[in-house]
Amino acid sequence: MSTQSSIQSSSSLELNSAVLGHDALDIIPAELEQTLKLAGLLQTSLELDTVLDYFLDAVSHLINFDGAQFTNNEFNYEFLYGKVQRHSCTYRLRLGEELLGELSFSRKKRFAETETNQLETILCQVLYPVRNAILYKRAVISSQVDPLTGTNNRAAFDASIEKEVERSHRHHMPLSLAVVDIDFFKQVNDSYGHSTGDAVLCKVTDVIKNTLRASDELFRYGGEEFTIILNGTDSDGANNVAERIREEIENAYFEHEGNRIPLTVSIGISSLTTRDDAKRLFNKADAALYRAKETGRNKVHYYAQSRMKTG
Ligand code: GH3
Ligand code: MG
Ligand code: MG
Repeated sequence: MSTQSSIQSSSSLELNSAVLGHDALDIIPAELEQTLKLAGLLQTSLELDTVLDYFLDAVSHLINFDGAQFTNNEFNYEFLYGKVQRHSCTYRLRLGEELLGELSFSRKKRFAETETNQLETILCQVLYPVRNAILYKRAVISSQVDPLTGTNNRAAFDASIEKEVERSHRHHMPLSLAVVDIDFFKQVNDSYGHSTGDAVLCKVTDVIKNTLRASDELFRYGGEEFTIILNGTDSDGANNVAERIREEIENAYFEHEGNRIPLTVSIGISSLTTRDDAKRLFNKADAALYRAKETGRNKVHYYAQSRMKTG
């Protein structure tokens, strides 16, 4: 990471129609062709990575730089291009009031003023595509978040499990899946009301989240059912995590008007084998959950055990 002292220049770039009109007229014909080509290319994607890649490829044909870095704090997003070097110039990309992020270019040699002027001109082109990619990213994220518990929802799970199964197969890494279902949750709603039921769902989410490692991914699959993708975790590890969750929920304090609500969960787990795709991995965990329910609830059941038991 470059430090403050290595930053050669830092400017804030804001786009308005005057800037755009003026700079567009200043571009010489060869550059105009490049500019139009880039403008077309930038319209072909709403993915921030792709937009930045296209843009930085185009800039690298105009100006010599070794590395570039784009950061956006809203998404904790960082995009690295090439290799970061000692001298850098940094631009805060703004559209009106909105800060889109910071883009730095770096290299071993200082940037000349003509080069930073050129950079500023071409940066105007990327502002709207970056803003559109940010709007798209925001929409995708909100469509994948459960509004009640704030955790990832089923749409996010469907996307993640496919990706993680594919990645685990490719790198020969262990992967396990847990399906967690609250026991007799209908009774919670019936006895204490729907809003207490909602509060219980939120607290269950928090208790599970606090039990997991950063690499584990929790989803509200639907109703009172959660899924957890346990990356890099084999069957023993998954059993340990699931048993910890079961215990934590059993010991957690859920209440309604000062009275304790006893609550337990049943958990089914499965681990990826070379024969499994995402659907089969889920079906195995779901079958194990069914066995955990069938054999008394407040239990963890691993798929292999459930198969042995059912013969
Ligand atoms: P089991 O031990 O077999 O899982 O029994 P259960 O009562 O938990 O299962 P069942 O499928 O019969 O009931 C699930 C209940 O979850 C019924 C439904 O009203 C409740 N539920 C689903 N989504 C929500 C929600 O968002 N808020 C609240 N409060 N309740 C919900
Ligand atoms: Mg249930
Ligand atoms: Mg259920």
